[in-house]
Amino acid sequence: MNKKSIYKFCPVCRGDFIKKQLIQNEPERLVCKACKFIFYLDPKLVACTIAETSKGIVLQRRNKEPKKGHWVLPGGFVDRGETLEEAAKREFFEETGLHSKINCLLGTYSYPGEANIIIVYKSDITGGTIRACHESMSIDEFKKNEIPWDQLAFDTTKKALKKYIDLAIPPF
Ligand SMILES: [Zn+2]
Repeated sequence: MNKKSIYKFCPVCRGDFIKKQLIQNEPERLVCKACKFIFYLDPKLVACTIAETSKGIVLQRRNKEPKKGHWVLPGGFVDRGETLEEAAKREFFEETGLHSKINCLLGTYSYPGEANIIIVYKSDITGGTIRACHESMSIDEFKKNEIPWDQLAFDTTKKALKKYIDLAIPPF
């Protein structure tokens, strides 16, 4: 737990938390002083999709901070109880208006001190019509030689696109 915790009170009994190392070599945990509830700060899963129309790879231009105005792979948080694949397809449809079918796992990305773990699938588009949702300024399609490398939002966006392009088998 590198960053200061944003949680002050126990969600079970509203008691105060203290930070305590419960097991050697494990991070400190938030423990409720009153009821002893342990609040594990688990990672958050994000499922993203790389897919191409006949015009190119579908990217979404962020309409919110951080990195407002920069391009990302369409994706979002996995709901508890949802499969990764369903989450990727759902988020891709919500954000682009396009239906998709998972082709393969492209990569998984995680970073020290960061909560998000990002899973990127390579998918095929099976239908729908492109439309931007409220989280996007726009949705656009990019040929592999037209990727806006200096306007991509995150490390994962760059790494996944690079891997996708390097793996692509000609002709493309
Ligand atoms: Zn409590």
